[in-house]
Formats: sequence, structure tokens, C-alpha cells
Amino acid sequence: MGDIQIDDVGKTYDSEEGEITAVEGVTLSVEDGEFVTIVGPSGSGKSTLLRMIAGLESITSGTISINDRAINNIPPQDRGVAMVFQEYALYPHMSVRKNMSYGLKLTTDLSKAEISDRVEEAAEMMSIKDLLDKKPGNLSGGQQQRVATGRAIVRDPEVFLFDEPLSNLDAKLRLHMRTELQRIQEDLGTTSVYVTHDQTEAMTMSDRIVILDGGEIQQVGTPKEVYARPRNKFVADFIGSPSMNFYDVAIEGSQLVGPDFQYTVSQDILEKVGDGIDSSDLVLGIRPEHIQVNPKDTENTINVQLDVLEHEGSDNYLYLMKDETEWTVRVPGNKMIESGMSLEITLPEEHLHLFERATGKNILVDSNSAQKIPTANTN
Ligand code: ADP
Repeated sequence: MGDIQIDDVGKTYDSEEGEITAVEGVTLSVEDGEFVTIVGPSGSGKSTLLRMIAGLESITSGTISINDRAINNIPPQDRGVAMVFQEYALYPHMSVRKNMSYGLKLTTDLSKAEISDRVEEAAEMMSIKDLLDKKPGNLSGGQQQRVATGRAIVRDPEVFLFDEPLSNLDAKLRLHMRTELQRIQEDLGTTSVYVTHDQTEAMTMSDRIVILDGGEIQQVGTPKEVYARPRNKFVADFIGSPSMNFYDVAIEGSQLVGPDFQYTVSQDILEKVGDGIDSSDLVLGIRPEHIQVNPKDTENTINVQLDVLEHEGSDNYLYLMKDETEWTVRVPGNKMIESGMSLEITLPEEHLHLFERATGKNILVDSNSAQKIPTANTN
């Protein structure tokens, strides 16, 4: 068992310039066995939130509970959590074996034999058995990360906490460790909270994602939900690569009028722009992979010129211009397109996003369904 309940949690730091609010009003439930990733830009409060769960930072306001027990005042070693850090935090003078067993020796009454069994088992799981007698200084970054993860596994915690554990690895190794961590988490079924600034990592590893900005939750949802139904422009921009195209638009009649284009939309969309929303001050959003090039079955198109074509193997990225306005489009690599071509594009309505500029709110997403926090793994 290892469910986590975070209730209206805030954190302020005192600094010479005054109070800094790092986390504000965060409420979140993590189910037993779930893999939840906290993602956001630098300074958005991710580490602070994780460190409050770990007990490495005090909680200024609100309550954090694990298995229905408030842990605000419980020392880190008694919370049932094990943390893996970006810098591995291994003891340089101890062998790998000792690094992995040391915490158990200090905080449990397990016998020597039991500890040794656990270390062997975790080492097996992390494929580091042949490293057990080496010192961290003789290991590569990837191997050190395996040891750090193995050390967390031997603790047999209720909850794993990961603070950007793969950031120091090169791209290829990062990809490999990503799938490996997922596999281990699935095998062990241990509740995991994972912090990263990398949206791809968040999208590929998690049951659910929590997007933070300015210390506040912007959205909680499955990777599919936050990708398809971002609640606001921040989430829409942060999730997805390359990021969504955005254009300032106004509604005139049945058209969206942008800087260099007009585009007719259905009554359905127009009706969602309700009272109190300034229809002359909106932002249209559409992802590069959702724009259709040279559609056959519609005349509702925008005429553009191909400016730059980037081949990326399976996909092509097209940078299209309509006067001063650029559209980034992703199309399959086999689509025959040549530089300088004049093309038509269309914007399928099911993939359109329309944001209120003043608040960033996505007008086309039903806020009730988007805000709903699923209670179980929904992937
Ligand atoms: P992230 O992990 O998303 O990069 P952090 O949780 O590290 O963000 O930081 C959130 C905010 O809190 C930032 O503005 C940061 O400068 C501030 N902060 C973090 N730790 C401290 C500290 N020990 N003292 C003062 N301010 C801090």
C-alpha cells in the first residue's frame, strides 16, 4: 500500500528579498501503485513539492498523508519513502554493496543475511551484480544511476520519489533507463512520484501527469488527456513537441480572423465562446501533426508557401508561410513535397483549440471533464 494524499499544500521560503512562494494550494491524490510525474519549467516548484513528500523540506501549509497517515511531522526515514536523486548521492568511499545496504543497517532491524539477500535481489534487478564490490568513482554515470535506484529498491518503500534521475545521462542512455525504470516500477508495483522538466519523459513514463507552473497545478491527467484536452494555453504549449502553433484571432461572423488568414468554423465552435469572453481577443491553437496539407474534400483552406522543409526520417517538418505568419506542420516522411511549393492547409475542427487570451483558458475544453482527477490508472 502506498497512496499519497496532498491537501492544499503550500511552501514559502524566507529570503533577503522577502517571502518566496514555491508551491501554492496543491491538492493531489496518488493511488497505490500509480506512476505520477510532476512536470514543469525550471522554478515551477517540482522539487520543492517532492522534497516535502520526502521530508527534506518542511511543509508551510496543508497536509501530506501516506496511507491515511499525516506525515508533516514524521522524520524522513519513517515515512516509508525512498528517493533517487539527479546527482545519485552515493557515498564515494563505500563499495556499491555497502552503499546499497547502509541505509537498511541504520534504519531497520533486518539481519545481516536478510540485508545481503535484498541487496543481491535489487542488484540482479538493476543488472549491477558484477559492480557490487566496486566504488562509485569507478562507475559510469549510467551505472551510478543504477546503483542509486538499486539502493532505493532495497528499502522496499511504500513510495519511490525520483528527482530528475535521468538528467545527467546522455540521450541514448536516458531513453534506455526510461524504459527500464518503467519496467521495474511495473514489476514492483510501487507507487512512484517522478519529477522532470522533460515533457517527453513525462508523456512516455506516466500513468498521470501533473503540470506545474508558478508553484500551482495547471492540470492533472493521463498523457492522452493533457495532450488532447489541455485546459489552458500553458499546458497546450508545454506538452507536445514541436509545440502547438498559436495565432491571435478574433471572431468575425463565422470566421476566425488571424494576422494573415481567415478561417471558417462551425456554429458548434462559435457557440462555445460564451458570454463574458471577449471574442475579439482569442488565441487559436493547433498542433503541427493535426494540420492537413492539400486536403481533397474541403474548400475551407488557407493558401501557404513552403518556406523550409526538414526531413527527419519517418516525418517531415514543413515551415509554411502565409505572408508574415508561420505554420509548423508535421507530415509523414513519404509525402511528396518540394521546396517552394504552394500548398493548401486545413485545420480539422476536432483538433482546434481556442484560448481566451486574458486568462489562457481553453474555451473548447469542458473544464469539468478536464479538471476531473481520475482516481485509478486510466491508461
Ligand atoms: P523546480 O524544481 O521546478 O525547478 P524548485 O522547487 O526548485 O523548482 O523552486 C521553486 C521556487 O522556489 C523557485 O523560485 C526557487 O528559486 C525557490 N526556492 C527553492 N528552494 C529554495 C530555497 N532553499 N530558498 C529560497 N528559495 C528557494
